[in-house]
Amino acid sequence: MNAKILIVEDEPAIQELLAFNVMQAGFQALRAEDADSAWQQIRGNVPDLILLDWMLPNISGVVLAKQFRADTRTRDIPIIMLTARGDERDKILGLESGADDYITKPFSPRELMARIRAVLRRHLPGLPDETLSAGGLKLLPASHRVTAKGIAVELGPTEFRLLHFFMTHAERVYSRTQLLDQVWGTQVFVEERTVDVHIRRLRAALEPVKMDNMIQTVRGSGYRFSITTT
Ligand code: CA
Repeated sequence: MNAKILIVEDEPAIQELLAFNVMQAGFQALRAEDADSAWQQIRGNVPDLILLDWMLPNISGVVLAKQFRADTRTRDIPIIMLTARGDERDKILGLESGADDYITKPFSPRELMARIRAVLRRHLPGLPDETLSAGGLKLLPASHRVTAKGIAVELGPTEFRLLHFFMTHAERVYSRTQLLDQVWGTQVFVEERTVDVHIRRLRAALEPVKMDNMIQTVRGSGYRFSITTT
């Protein structure tokens, strides 16, 4: 399941921009424009993270953050506060109200996504230890091992993370940019061509066990992991 991110922002253009970036990165976006609609969303769908604008009509983001922290349904949901105000006093006030991180407008989509991932990583412990399996391929996060029909597959750390991402997001196409964001994370100063290099290495590692065709090139779009090979 992709993480659900609740965006609480009253300015339609910014809400739209946030939702676009969140979805582009593979998350689900839930939207609200004030405290009431935020609570309404939460009643229907508990989010994994809340992006909360400071300046909201009626009830401010700071007050709403305190409400979230006081309610058992939302107590443990990480909050990133968005604000146009950058001074240190506001930052401290935001964090004291219960936010986990704080981002100042205007922000770059990359910075925003890096913050979201960092906060989610802190809250959802790393790679879950459960073994992943798909089409005869098994990946064991705890021991960093991969087997194909019982045969060990040797992978470098990046190929391992790449395969882990693919196995948890099978049958969907990801662009090089999306893969960079998801797999390389905050080390964003990497060329898109790097993705191709690691895809090649991953395929080469899977070739001896005849599973390289699970890593599929989708012309003009990117790559997909699929157990349906033709
Ligand atoms: Ca606002």
